[in-house]
Amino acid sequence: MESKKDFKSGFVGIIGRPNVGKSTLLNAIIGEFISIISPKPQTTRVNILGIKTKENYQIAFFDTPGMLEKTKYELHRTMIEEIKKVIEDSDVMVMMVEPFPEIGNIERNLMELIRKSGKPAILAINKVDKVLKNEILPVIDLYARENLFKEIIPISASMGDGVDILEKEIVNYLPFGEKLYPEEELSDKTERFFVAEIVREKIFNFYGEEIPYSTAVEIDEWKEEEERIYIRAIIYVEKNSQKGIIIGKKGEKIKKVGTFARIDIEKRLGKKVFLELWVKTKEGWREDRNFLKRIGYVS
Ligand code: GDP
Ligand code: MG
Repeated sequence: MESKKDFKSGFVGIIGRPNVGKSTLLNAIIGEFISIISPKPQTTRVNILGIKTKENYQIAFFDTPGMLEKTKYELHRTMIEEIKKVIEDSDVMVMMVEPFPEIGNIERNLMELIRKSGKPAILAINKVDKVLKNEILPVIDLYARENLFKEIIPISASMGDGVDILEKEIVNYLPFGEKLYPEEELSDKTERFFVAEIVREKIFNFYGEEIPYSTAVEIDEWKEEEERIYIRAIIYVEKNSQKGIIIGKKGEKIKKVGTFARIDIEKRLGKKVFLELWVKTKEGWREDRNFLKRIGYVS
């Protein structure tokens, strides 16, 4: 029976308001692109599972899509339901906040849900690179008074500061158990999905307000050739007028997306890539369940 105590495994939910740095943290821990990072809120569209396996433990992280505070009640309820499910499925919670000197409404709601679940939770105070050292202590104090968190750890997900400490503490609260996934697995999503997400990330970075939210990306063809991989991706937009915006004058804009995406995809796949991008209009793709399933946005 002794041998059962030398490996830990479990699910960890990363929760927090949009833009707090959840996807950045997940990518930092896994050490690879798993989830889109963008200064725009709500870029994470689906629950993404990122898996980290070491000699003595395996952690399966949920990156949760956040919702905006100002959304209507209906959406707000959906968010609560979604987060409840993640908490239910998790062994340990990581709640992320920014180093602000007061506790916001979203944070209060999240803490309430954690409290009800009775599950161990760690607070990660992210983006501490943006504030002075002496501004962090009062924030730690503020949350410590809530008597909810097992640990409170200041981190900078984008600089990688404190991330190893956070990981260590997560493992500390994980239950003993065997591997949940094969150790070479980094996610429950396919490489195709990640390549599509890389393209979507560039769209989030290069286009204005509403365009990124209207697009979906699908990998249409993937051919392994001798010297390179040929990949054709389709960028779907909702209206014909958006097609022109994506393509840009003389195709300049889409070329930029293609170049930046290709560089990241080649890094990820470790091989030369020929990336072809097409833009298509697909009215109402958001409501098309079969389509959403096909591109992996719903399961
Ligand atoms: P999410 O919506 O919670 O998944 O947040 P993201 O991971 O997409 O990050 C939102 C924005 O915050 C991006 O522009 C990130 O580059 C930025 N960000 C994330 N972590 C840090 C950090 O530790 N320090 C700073 N200064 N910015 C960060
Ligand atoms: Mg995200």
